[in-house]
Order: sequence, then structure tokens, then C-alpha cells
Amino acid sequence: MSGLLVVGGANLDQVARAPRLPGRGETILATGYHESPGGKAANLASAAAAWGAPVRFVGRVGEDGFGDVLLEAWREAGVDVRHVRRDPAGTGLGIVFMDDAGQYQTIVVPRANARLAARDVAELPADAWDGVAVVALALEAPAEATLAAARAAAERGLPLVLNAAPAEGMTADLWPFVTHLIVNEHEAALLSGRAVSDREGAIAAGTALVDRLAAGRAAAVVVTLGAEGAVLLAAGVAPAHVPAPVVAARDTLGAGDTFVGVFAAEVAAGRPLARAAARACVAGAIAVTVAGARAAVRPADLETLAASDPVARAAASSAPDRAAPTPSLGGRA
Ligand code: ADP
Repeated sequence: MSGLLVVGGANLDQVARAPRLPGRGETILATGYHESPGGKAANLASAAAAWGAPVRFVGRVGEDGFGDVLLEAWREAGVDVRHVRRDPAGTGLGIVFMDDAGQYQTIVVPRANARLAARDVAELPADAWDGVAVVALALEAPAEATLAAARAAAERGLPLVLNAAPAEGMTADLWPFVTHLIVNEHEAALLSGRAVSDREGAIAAGTALVDRLAAGRAAAVVVTLGAEGAVLLAAGVAPAHVPAPVVAARDTLGAGDTFVGVFAAEVAAGRPLARAAARACVAGAIAVTVAGARAAVRPADLETLAASDPVARAAASSAPDRAAPTPSLGGRA
């Protein structure tokens, strides 16, 4: 068992690029435009699949061409989409403005994602859980669907990796189900009520958050810090800083999703937390060197970077891979 079940939102990102972001009330001309699959849960599913994990996605897309594009992208990434429903509300959209420095602003239009319901999880056939070792979620889906997925994980004794993004979606009833929480600085500050502007602040905030997670189950919090890497906090273990390699950042969109997908894939494969975080940090750094929210970072990319970068080299050698081949979830659509 090393599979991931990911439940959540999927968008078609429409990215308009310009030398700078428009000011309030201002109209400017784009210098570039592209469409790409997006949505935090969908991106993390693709990132985990690129990293080699068997992944099954549960969500809704529209009965439109954008829905076809998303399904095709998942299939290409090797994600099992048999449990993705088509919905007349139309495919969710991410409207993104991006400047030449890679900074961006986004408005998400949820559409079909807003109709994801508790029953989308409750009505999953028993075999949808075959081979699943970890449930992974982000917070762009309606709260009832997220909570249903969290409960379903706990009922089966499965770890729950939660990317609390956007943090406003974190409801009080969700906390007891979370075993692995991943947040960026902004989300850590919002959830802990503490300012997070440096590593020490991230450790203090993360320590406060560990105490709120699933009581009686091994729990860990990761606070990602952009170019600074991340800090890892686990119950009963000293806080650890996890470095990221120095890279030429091109596009930070989706770096966090790559981090979460790779981290969840490593946890699902039974790897130690320190190794999971180290590899996720390197994968996140590689993702910012690639344009687009879906960088599809593979273990081979880590090996390539390891030839020239000491941080990647340490992550690559942090623990031996298990000899057994990764089992498949079976019956891919
Ligand atoms: P989010 O995109 O959710 O705000 P972060 O910006 O913290 O998340 O990035 C997530 C991870 O991606 C970091 O922990 C790091 O591993 C990597 N990363 C992000 N930006 C950079 C960067 N400029 N250089 C190197 N690694 C980066």
C-alpha cells in the first residue's frame, strides 16, 4: 500500500502575463497568455503521481471542454480519475495575472468544485480505497466534502495530509483528523495567531499548531518558507530546519502544491518525515524553475540536481529506497 486518495478542487488556470500587475481600475495589455490545469488539490495529485505514487482523485469538473482538458492532463500524469464526476455547473477556473518577475494575483471561480459534496466521498465504492495509504486534501473544496474525506481517513486509520490553503477554509471540526499539516508562512500566521516572518517565528507557530492536531496519533507540521526551505515540527522531536537548494526562480506558482504532493507521496510510501520534507523541499525548488503551476518533478530530476547541488545531494541520499517496486492502485481509468 503506497497510494494516495486526493479529494478536492480542480481548476483550469487562465494565466495572463504582463511586465507588471495592473493597478486598481487600470487596464493593461498582456504580453503572454496560457491555459493550464490548476487547483491546489488537483496539482498536488499530479505532483504526487509525477513523483511515482499511485494516485486516485475525487472531485468534480464541468461537462465542458475545460473538463476534458483536466481529465486528459490527469490521465497523462497517471492519476486514476474514475471517481471524478462531471457537473453541469462548469469547470472551475483560476484567473491569474502574472508579472515578469513571476509574482501573481489569482481569483478562483469554483463552479463545479463548489458542488463537491460529502456524498462524493460517502458513495465511493469500497474498491476506491484499495491500495490507499494516505488521504491528502487542500481547502478549496466545500467544507462538508473536506470533512467527509477527513472522517473517512480516520475511520480507516489512514494518515491525513492536509494543505491548509486557503487557511480561511480550516474549520474547528477538521483539526482532530489531521495527522500531517502543511502551511506556508501566511497560513501558519493565520492559523496560529502569531506573526511568522522568519525561521524562529515559523518554529513557534508550527509548535503551537502541532498541539492542535490528531490527539493520540503521530502528528507533524511543516511550515514552508519559500527560498528558505521549510521547518518540520513533530510531536516529541526537536524542530528541524529543512533547506531548499538555491535556484533561479522563474515561476513560484504551484511550488507549494509540488511540495505537498511529494511530501504526501513519500509519507504514503512509508518514508521517514525528515526524508519526506527534505525531498519535498528540493522538489519545490525545482518546481519554481519551471513555468506553470504543474511542474511534474520526478525523482530523476532530484538525482540530476544532486550532481551539482549539495542540498539536493543530501536529500537524494537521506535514506535508501525500498527495493520493492511501487505497487499500483490498479484499474487505472
Ligand atoms: P507556497 O507556494 O504555498 O507559498 P512556498 O513559497 O513556501 O509555498 O514554497 C514551497 C516550497 O517550494 C518551499 O518550501 C521550497 O522548497 C520551494 N521554494 C519556493 N520558492 C523557492 C525559491 N525561490 N527557491 C528555492 N526553493 C523555493
